[in-house]
Formats: sequence, structure tokens, C-alpha cells
Amino acid sequence: MQLLFIHSDYIEYEAKSKTRVAEEIEPARRKERIEEALVAFIAVESEDEKNVRYIVEKAVEEANSIFEQVNAERIVLYPYAHLSSELASPETSVEILRGLEADLLSRGVEVTRAPFGWYKSFTLRCKGHPLSELSRKITVLEGAEAKETVMEKQSKALEAEEKAVSHFFFTDEHGNLVGADDFEFEEKHENLKKFFVYESEKRREVDKIPPHVELMKRLEIADYEPASDPGNLRFYPKGKLIKSLLEDYVRNSVAAYGAVEVETPIMYSAVHPSLKDYLERFPARQYSMLGKGGKPDLFLRFAACFGQFLMSKEMSISYKNLPLKIFELAPSFRKEKRGELVGLRRLRKFTMPDMHTLCRDMDEALVEFEKQYEFCMRILADIGFSPKNYEVALRFTREFYDDGANKELIERLVGIAGKPVLIEMWDQRFFYFVLKFEFNFVDALGKASALSTVQIDVENADRYGITYTDADGARKSPIILHCSPSGAIERCIYALLEKAYLDMEEGVMPMLPLWLSPTQLRLIPVAERHLEYLEEILPELNGIMRVDVDDRDETVSKKIRDSGREWIPYVAVVGDKEVEKQTLSVTIRAESSKKKRKVEEMNVSALKERIEADLRDEPFRSLPLSYKLSERAKFVG
Ligand SMILES: [Zn+2]
Repeated sequence: MQLLFIHSDYIEYEAKSKTRVAEEIEPARRKERIEEALVAFIAVESEDEKNVRYIVEKAVEEANSIFEQVNAERIVLYPYAHLSSELASPETSVEILRGLEADLLSRGVEVTRAPFGWYKSFTLRCKGHPLSELSRKITVLEGAEAKETVMEKQSKALEAEEKAVSHFFFTDEHGNLVGADDFEFEEKHENLKKFFVYESEKRREVDKIPPHVELMKRLEIADYEPASDPGNLRFYPKGKLIKSLLEDYVRNSVAAYGAVEVETPIMYSAVHPSLKDYLERFPARQYSMLGKGGKPDLFLRFAACFGQFLMSKEMSISYKNLPLKIFELAPSFRKEKRGELVGLRRLRKFTMPDMHTLCRDMDEALVEFEKQYEFCMRILADIGFSPKNYEVALRFTREFYDDGANKELIERLVGIAGKPVLIEMWDQRFFYFVLKFEFNFVDALGKASALSTVQIDVENADRYGITYTDADGARKSPIILHCSPSGAIERCIYALLEKAYLDMEEGVMPMLPLWLSPTQLRLIPVAERHLEYLEEILPELNGIMRVDVDDRDETVSKKIRDSGREWIPYVAVVGDKEVEKQTLSVTIRAESSKKKRKVEEMNVSALKERIEADLRDEPFRSLPLSYKLSERAKFVG
């Protein structure tokens, strides 16, 4: 293999036309511009075919060491036949390039692979420092054996996934599929378009800081923790309150839906037979704890699936118990790539509401799937997202769709969403599920993140040996649904903040839903002498809403400004007039605009009734800080 490495300010390329041996690529991959990259121009040679594994391993070592030396931010793999006159076959070349890509990815390196077999135009600016241009030749040594690495197993899994061809469609209002190229996006489908672009590019890296990052800090919700691993955040009292309320809400809702709650361990043995397979498939995303000899000993769970499956395996389950729903509010861990971590969107530690439903057969699973689809919509509505705030994706295999009854199910699901949805259809099944949906939030930067999701799993009951006794006495494997009704709790907070920012851009006053606002009512005395009146009315309001008093030594206008910066839904100013008339002048944020505040004068019981009505049945927790602002320490700034 011949390699030429160039450390560049940027490289820009465009695949213009195919050669005979061109690989198929998505349109989004045709044209790219990549900044701050180590570009590796690569010619795979015929003698590399003798030991593909060895070549991949050596080339990765070489690339990685230069990558670290020059301190580049990412690597671009650029097939470049002109470096050699003795080229390998196109199949081997692509195999090796894919192997390089997978191996580097598994080391957490951000990689872009330029398409193979295309005539490409490119522009590149070389940095020009002493190490910015290096060439290497890698040859197969006689008798050299590549180490059997975990990485390689992963690359096989990745390869299998790449080979599985998927097709994107959209649905029209009748639920018919329209090819992605033929679909006409109307203005109101702007977000669906962004979602599709995000999906087809499959680039999860962060290129800009999303607006919620500033908000999560300023509102004293959460912040980075420099002493921990990236993606493990700290939550301040207000953030902890919001998180707890969301957790309470999801927990109560799944209980009402009929699930039973359990708790399973956070860490698992890396050599347990049921888990080993999985671990080897996705080693790069695991938080592993190394034991003797540097081999992974334990790993932290990425969701509650393992724990609940291991539990289910040992249970005695009758068909009469089905569908059986098991729920856990699971702290979960995924070692996401560093370049993908930002704010609350993608974390390495998060809380995943995770429900598994054991169903008697596919018929029952499909009925349950449809129910959970609607259940998830209700959950998101209560959290603060209407269907216009998220995009629906339905993904399934062709075989699934070709079954007439299933086609009707898909049409019904589209009807329930009430708008076009993105369809991904796989030619063959390569995941453990046959059908899945997600509700995806698209943020201010056009990045999409899944909130709710349900999958129909046809594989894991067998893998884990989970069975139930059917009416005829026979032991059978259930079909399992995986459901996260809301998606990660932290991600809900991210989406609420981004949504508030998007509202703000449209001139709407940003705020959190009332039930999640840390302070729901703020009382502002005009002077110290009005405090007494406030103390008198507090007992009537406490326990029903979170109310605080701005008793700081500040001007009234500053206090009003601060309450606005905190997005407080109800703010009541109390002066002589109010004390005399026993009323409150209440600013109602939800009905105010930037230009005009909506102020209503009402007595305490009218205000109480109004807020109680707005709060409906969502969970309630007390104020997480002292009710007097003068007594509070600042957590940020
Ligand atoms: Zn699961």
C-alpha cells in the first residue's frame, strides 16, 4: 500500500463521474468540504491482497500515529490510484478502505472516506509545516500475522450494515410511499427536509455550538464537569428539579399504562455469554473497566435491555401474563465519540426510561406497537411537544412491508401522525428488529435527535433464552418491544431549550412548560414594607405551586428584568395599591410579547385557581432553593 499524508487546512472534493469500478454512494457523499484534516491519499496494491487484515492494521497504526503527531482534528481517506502502477482489485481496495474507516472510527477518530472509483475534482490547502507532507509504504511481511482484534469484528459488523441496502421514502397524505427524489417539500415540511438531510448525511459531529448550551448554563440547569469524562454533566438544583419532574412524569405514565418497575445493575461482565456477542459488535461505544491483562472485565450498560432480559429469562411467565411490560428508569452509558458530544443533546451518561414488552406473538406485538406509538405521542404532548415539533420516522424491512396487513398498519400510523413521515426500508434485516419508529426533534442547527422510539425485536428472546408457557402447555419465545416513551430525560431538556430558542427567534417569549418551570410564580415587593403582605398570602399558595419572593436589595425594574431572564411564567408586583386592595398585578408570560407585557390584576384566590388549572395533573415537587432570593447562592456566574 502506498500512502501520502497531507495535513491540510481543508480539502474540498466532488465526485464528478463514475469509472467502471465506482462504488455506489449516497448523493450527500458526492461533495464534501472538510476542515483541519489529515488527508491520507491511498493506493491499495496487488500484493496487499495476500494479507488484508495485516495491511489494515499497519495502515491504521501509521495513520493514527501521524494523526496524533500533527494534532489534526479528523482524517480523510482518499483513494488515489496514481500512487502505484500495481493496483489491487477494486473489491479488495474497497474492503481495505472500509476496514481502515471502521478501525479508525472504533478508536474514536472522526473519519471521512472519499468514494472509490470516481473521477473527482479536489482542492486542498497544505499547512506547510515540517510534518505536513509524509509518504509511507506498507508491505506484507512474510509470515506476519495480524492480531485478532475486537476492532476487526466490529468492522465486519459495520460492513454487514453497509452492505444492507436501505431506501428512503416519504408518505403522501394517503399513506402512499413516494421516492425521496420525487417528494415535494412544501414550506411547512421544512423540518422534515432538514431531518432527511441529516439522516442521509449521517454526520453526527458538532460543527457549531447549539443555542441550548448557553441557556442550560444561564438558567442554572446543567453544566460541563471538567473533572469527569466528557459527556458526564453536573446538574444544579433547578436542573435537578426539572430532571426529577420529567422522571416522575414518565414513571407515573408507564405505571398507568400497566408496566411494572424494576431495577437492574448498571455494570455487567464483559465475558458473560449472552453479553459478549453484543459487546464485540459495538466495542467503541462501551464504557469498559479493564481487568487484569488490560482486557475489558466489566462494562457499563448502554440501556436496560441486558438487565431486564437476564431477569426475564429466569421468570415463570404464562401466556395469561402477556403482554408483560417491564420498566426501568435507567442511568445509561455510551462512550459516544468526543466530537459528537455537545450540551445535553448527546451525552455519555444519561437517564433512559426503558420499557420492554413481552408479547405472545407478532400479532400481539403489532397491536401493542400501535398502542405505544399513540402512548408516546401523549407523553411528548404532556412534556411540551406537539406533532409539529417533531418528525416521525418509520423503519422496516421490505419483507415486513410486503405483507398486506402490515402495509395497512403503516398507513394508520401515518394517519395518526397527521403529516408526511420519513420511511426507511431495508432490503434485508440486519438489526434485531423488523419495525421501528422514532419521533425526532430537529434543533436550531438542523441536527436531529430521537426522542420516543419503539422497536419490534425478533431476535433477543432466543438469544437470552426467554420463554413463556402458552395455552397448549408449550414453551414459546415471546416477541419483545423496546420502548423509550420520552427518550433520554436530558435530551427532553435539550429539546425544550432548543424549542424555546426557536420560539424566541419567531418573536414568541421563550419559556418552559409551567409544570417544569423551577419558579412558577415570583412575588416582587415594591418596598420592604410590602413583604409582610406577601408573607401573609404565601401559605395559601405554597404546596400548590413553586412560589418565591425577590426580597433582594435591588430596584423593582431590575427584579422584573431578572424574572424575565429566568423565564418565570407568573410575576406579581406588590406595592401600596395592591396591599390596600388586597390584589396582585400579575404579568402572564405566556400571553405577553416582547413589545407588550400582559398584566392582569387579580386577587390571590383567582391567581391560585388560574395556576392550578394550568398545572393540570402533571407531577409537582417543591421549590429546590430558598424561597427568598436574598438567601440563595449563585450556582453560575
Ligand atoms: Zn431495550
